[in-house]
Amino acid sequence: MVKGVLCPHCANGQPMNYHYKKWHCPRCKWVDQDALKKALKDYRLLVGPKLTNKGFREFFAIDSPNVAYKLLQQLPLKADGTKKHRQYWIME
Ligand SMILES: [Zn+2]
Repeated sequence: MVKGVLCPHCANGQPMNYHYKKWHCPRCKWVDQDALKKALKDYRLLVGPKLTNKGFREFFAIDSPNVAYKLLQQLPLKADGTKKHRQYWIME
């Protein structure tokens, strides 16, 4: 399984880096704002509808829990529980 937000223009699943609210491909320099929404669909198919901050960071290769939190807030997710026990559900 290839993890991360992958560049739609590069072969072999080139992972993109999150930087200044956009996803950047280090190989072809493609910049994408919605790459994560597409990646979320892949996550749902590959892993399932449930997400946690930790699982999100592992899958999308994001180091910072704060950045992960901010990204999670922007996505069409249903949140459940509080703080550390917070879980997110990916909507259809
Ligand atoms: Zn690329």
